[in-house]
Amino acid sequence: MNHHPNEDALAGPIIPPMAMSRRNFLGVGTTLLGGLWAERVFPETADQATLPPKAWRDLALRLQGRLLRPGQPGFSSLALPNNLRYASILPEAIAICASTGDIAQCLRWCADHGIPLVARGGGHSYAGYSCTSGLMINLSAINRVSYDKASGRVTVGGGALNGALYSALQAVGRSVTHGRCPTVGAGGFLLGGGIGFDMRANGVGSDKVVSTEIVLADGSLVTASATQNPDLFWACRGGAGGNFGINTAFTLDTFAIDRVAVFSLQWSAVSDDFIATLFQTLEAAPRGLGSRVGLAPGLDAASGARGIDVTLLGQFNGSVDELRDILQPVFLMATPTHQIIDRMHYWTGQSYIVDPEGASHYQERSRFVNGGFPEAAIPVIRAWLRRWNLAEGSGLIKFFQTGGAVNDPSADASAFVHRSSQWLAAIGIQWQGDQSAAEQQWMHRWQDGFYREITPLAGGGAFQNFVDPSLENWETAYYGTNLPRLRKIKARVDPTNLFHFPQSIPPAQA
Ligand SMILES: Cc1cc2nc3c(=O)[nH]c(=O)nc-3n(C[C@H](O)[C@H](O)[C@H](O)COP(=O)(O)OP(=O)(O)OC[C@H]3O[C@@H](n4cnc5c(N)ncnc54)[C@H](O)[C@@H]3O)c2cc1C
Repeated sequence: MNHHPNEDALAGPIIPPMAMSRRNFLGVGTTLLGGLWAERVFPETADQATLPPKAWRDLALRLQGRLLRPGQPGFSSLALPNNLRYASILPEAIAICASTGDIAQCLRWCADHGIPLVARGGGHSYAGYSCTSGLMINLSAINRVSYDKASGRVTVGGGALNGALYSALQAVGRSVTHGRCPTVGAGGFLLGGGIGFDMRANGVGSDKVVSTEIVLADGSLVTASATQNPDLFWACRGGAGGNFGINTAFTLDTFAIDRVAVFSLQWSAVSDDFIATLFQTLEAAPRGLGSRVGLAPGLDAASGARGIDVTLLGQFNGSVDELRDILQPVFLMATPTHQIIDRMHYWTGQSYIVDPEGASHYQERSRFVNGGFPEAAIPVIRAWLRRWNLAEGSGLIKFFQTGGAVNDPSADASAFVHRSSQWLAAIGIQWQGDQSAAEQQWMHRWQDGFYREITPLAGGGAFQNFVDPSLENWETAYYGTNLPRLRKIKARVDPTNLFHFPQSIPPAQA
């Protein structure tokens, strides 16, 4: 495709250039998801200590950072998870650790006093697994990001948010595979693999990690890399947060960036053929294209019948004309009801496809789709979306495009086992905090029924970064054939299972 002189200008005819803003761009991509990002402020709780105050004072004295108890300023906001479903799980204290030494002190103190602990990075665990009734080890002060020009590597603190990493990389014109939400913790993101629009070209986030620093259960600080503690290094690339220790730094290879074509398109009341064509077209696209397809309940404006609305969001390492060529089969099937395609600087593009921030109540249930998108899934999706009958809350299925470089490494190259998919499907529900219990139950039943029928068609495991508290056989769903090795490593580095939560990797039996 020839380079068009105006390719950097807005190419989509529906929204004129002057009318485009981040807000209306996002509106196209997130309408069906959004609208429910309610902020909630929870009152300070009364002191709920189970240990004498002196024990907590002793811990506070050991720390360079601060220890917050319930009722102290800042406690409530730091305790709050992104998923407000778990907002009532409050810690007895929050240790804002200033150093790896502080983390080691917390681990020893918790072991000595039998107090449960969790690490809190960005607080975005879907299942609230960085909430605890014991000690929350807040990593937000361990947030340094530095870039080494000579090696092209970036080192990010274990408590840094993705947004801080993006800012540092933007300043040097580089990137890593990253997600759309800047308030997700870089540590939580990388430990579970880490998916994003760059993954088809560059692999999942953890594929580019070259070393990590980690405080183990015995308080020791170790480096894990290909040459030092290689087993632990293997486990920290896909073994998921909260399992092996507390990671205080990650060093990653970065990649050079160019301008990208960013796209956000929407179609209403689509046909089965359209859905099949959309997935086939995207699967045939070069690795430089990353996308997310959303399928949600909709109405056919002409007939009033229930239908499926589609959103397509993504980026392409190429020109607008090339992108339009790739998507041509889809455009021939149906005209988008809304479309924006624009070429811009890579990091400007990321700010257009960013996830809306804010806490809310939700559950996601995921499955990797091995092989191509199965056409047999279309009637299943249509039937379940048609059943959605609530005016409040939302339910939809999203497909994150994997494939490409995600599948280059073997399944046992790192703990991230999911290496033969073309898509990651996630059925999401979101509700208002004050929505009736009956409606919430209905949503969960809808999600579970839908998930049960999609799972065998998808054929793959579940994504360990989209932790799902309802998942049966979660060990094999998240880790597959890598589970036995992960359990052995867990037994070696955390024999007393100090780091545990409802879906933590159990140590192998001796
Ligand atoms: C709005 C939203 C958007 C998302 N987008 C994406 C996406 O695009 N791609 C993707 O892959 N995932 C995405 N996720 C999932 C996200 O990557 C995971 O939930 C991740 O685990 C969150 O990390 P966190 O530090 O923010 O969460 P937390 O709740 O703080 O931590 C999650 C788990 O990791 C542990 N943990 C956190 N930091 C460390 C550390 N430094 N060392 C050891 N353990 C640690 C915690 O103890 C907990 O068990 C998204 C989640 C949300 C809510």
